[in-house]
Amino acid sequence: MYSITQNKNTMKAELFIAGSLLLIYSCSFDNKNLTVARNREFTPFKQPVSYEVAITKADSIVKSMSIEERIEMIGGHNFFFVQGVEKANLPRLYLSDATQGVHLRKDLDSQLEKSVAMPCPIALTSTWNRELAHVYAKSIGEECRAGGIAVLLGPGMNIYRISQNGRNFEYFGEDPYLAARMIENYITGVQSTGTIATLKHYLCNNTDHRRRTSNSIVSERALHEIYLPAFKAGVDAGAMAVMTSYNKINGEYASQNKETVTTILRQELGFKWLVMSDWWSVWEPEKAMKSGLDLDMPGEGDLKWSMFNKYGNSFLRANANQLLNEGKVSEEDINRMAGHIIATELAMELDKRPVKDESFLSSFPKHEEIALQTAREGIVLLKNEDDILPLKNPDIKIVASGAFMKERMSGGGSADVEGYNWVTMLDGLKERFGNQVSFSEKPTRDELDDADVVILSVGTKDSEGWDKDFNLPDSVNNQINEIAAINPNVIVVINAGGGINMSAWNSNVAAIVYCWYPGQMGNKALAEIIAGEVNPSGKLPITIEKNFQDSPGYGYLPASESVKGDWDIDANMELPIYDINYNEGVFVGYRWYESKKIEPLFPFGFGLSYTTFNYSALKLSSETMKKGETLNVQFVLENSGDVAGMETAQLYISDEKSTVERPVKELKDFIKVNLQPGEKVMVEMDIDLKDLSFYDEKTASWVAEPGKFNVLIGSSSQDIYLTKEFELVE
Ligand code: BGC
Repeated sequence: MYSITQNKNTMKAELFIAGSLLLIYSCSFDNKNLTVARNREFTPFKQPVSYEVAITKADSIVKSMSIEERIEMIGGHNFFFVQGVEKANLPRLYLSDATQGVHLRKDLDSQLEKSVAMPCPIALTSTWNRELAHVYAKSIGEECRAGGIAVLLGPGMNIYRISQNGRNFEYFGEDPYLAARMIENYITGVQSTGTIATLKHYLCNNTDHRRRTSNSIVSERALHEIYLPAFKAGVDAGAMAVMTSYNKINGEYASQNKETVTTILRQELGFKWLVMSDWWSVWEPEKAMKSGLDLDMPGEGDLKWSMFNKYGNSFLRANANQLLNEGKVSEEDINRMAGHIIATELAMELDKRPVKDESFLSSFPKHEEIALQTAREGIVLLKNEDDILPLKNPDIKIVASGAFMKERMSGGGSADVEGYNWVTMLDGLKERFGNQVSFSEKPTRDELDDADVVILSVGTKDSEGWDKDFNLPDSVNNQINEIAAINPNVIVVINAGGGINMSAWNSNVAAIVYCWYPGQMGNKALAEIIAGEVNPSGKLPITIEKNFQDSPGYGYLPASESVKGDWDIDANMELPIYDINYNEGVFVGYRWYESKKIEPLFPFGFGLSYTTFNYSALKLSSETMKKGETLNVQFVLENSGDVAGMETAQLYISDEKSTVERPVKELKDFIKVNLQPGEKVMVEMDIDLKDLSFYDEKTASWVAEPGKFNVLIGSSSQDIYLTKEFELVE
């Protein structure tokens, strides 16, 4: 959240959605002396009933239940349900995906007829707009309420370590700070509606290639600096559920890993509520029940998915009695598990109100508008040679071609959201440009010669269950180059869940627009951007490397294996466990490329606008900072171009000298501001000790070493315009 202060009474709030003022996240100023100040204080979600009250009541409910009833609770039912407790007025809970909207499951009862397909979470992250993350997630929470879904199985939030990860589209990019800020707002958004949010997949599930048969080997420092911060932010924001991942972490499966679930999640991060397994991922019931896990999903062995049984997928409900009889687990273990589930429900007052509230159906049009706004701000303009965009000439002739012009582009697997009223890319372009656009599957030389511009759609269809190749097929790369050789005014529009290899044609095309999977309304936003009705403001939440070999994850696949979409491989537990060594430690994303001096194709934080911004007058409140104090940073941001536009100013910190190897710089704050041409604002941000710290493995604590640091201000990790040094003193 940030607050905006002003000298005169001239500020006006700008964003109206569906006819009503929905949020004020960007402001337009008539006054040249305004200050936009980031206020670090974040208001977490407050459970209607406190943990202490809920757990005390839960304990007494647990005591009133027979052992059979308690065992029924600790495993799921019918794929997506958790048993209710009638005498305590606790309903059977319905759990459903996804992070980008509600995944409809028409074979289950009382389903929604439709749900809005929002832009995928990596597109949301590209907006760098915290408040938008809140309203985006609130929309999903409301749709859950409309459909009687008590628990949203999201947000997914694994860090982008490997560009080939098939689930990157579901997550929040490569930077722990950016991901954390978006996640905390996501959590308060979902839970403000009464829907429980689930932080997943805990932990280090950064590839989907053989996710059940891989072992992520990660240092304590990388865990704390890179992989835990977004989970911590979610916990601190009040998230009420966590889902463990499929993989092993440092040798033990996440669902039965006492170190990660009890020691780190519960004790260190202070998480008090429900911890569930990912679907079919508990292998040793005794360990799982003692690890801190509460709920085994989906929990039943007699379903069609019993293929996992042959590998010993040991459902807790099926094994609990025997383990009790053998004395391997105690009733206290079962009581603790059932107690956490019940306490979570009580804290959300699920005993006092219905989960389903169909009045939220009337909010769906508003959700569509939020989906549209997210796409407008999440689409990233990566290249715009000679300002070919926007296309303003009313007589312009456009040829539209490429693979996904007429398709619904969305990530697959449990995160898939069917959506409705989809606008395809061609629909979007036609709506804006009418007959000036003609579609051609394989444009002829004459068509290309005749066109003023060619809009070419390329991309990848990513999914849960496997990874995807960073490289596009040669045939696609060749096609782009062949077209560009005839007509160089090629605008490549990309749909993908993460980075793809653009090196083969990047320098031959005029423009590149990165659309991710922009949701059901996203191509409308794309057309508005191409037409110049919307000024692009998205910035990459990832680095896009020139070649996969350049990236920190390169070499993660077992020898002789390659990525290919195949559910059989995903489910084959006979494959040997392979180790994924996170040898790069904390050097993930731009931290890697910068420390190794490898030039990426497009850097983290980068995205073009139709206007220009000028950064000036960086001032620090002091040249020194004492432990316990904060340092105030001020600078002036001005729209120095001709059209209104939004800019995300980024603050990075670099440590000049340290006893451990540290990244060249790290993102520590950002702010998105909307400015009219010629307008300027004074931006203020505060730095505290945590921003200067690294995780010290020797003392298992965060350490900020006295010495010199730099504040770097810019528009991307590579475009730094202002720098000032200060010293941390004892
Ligand atoms: C996915 C989870 C999802 C669950 C239930 C699993 O395959 O990994 O993210 O929540 O299915 O649909």
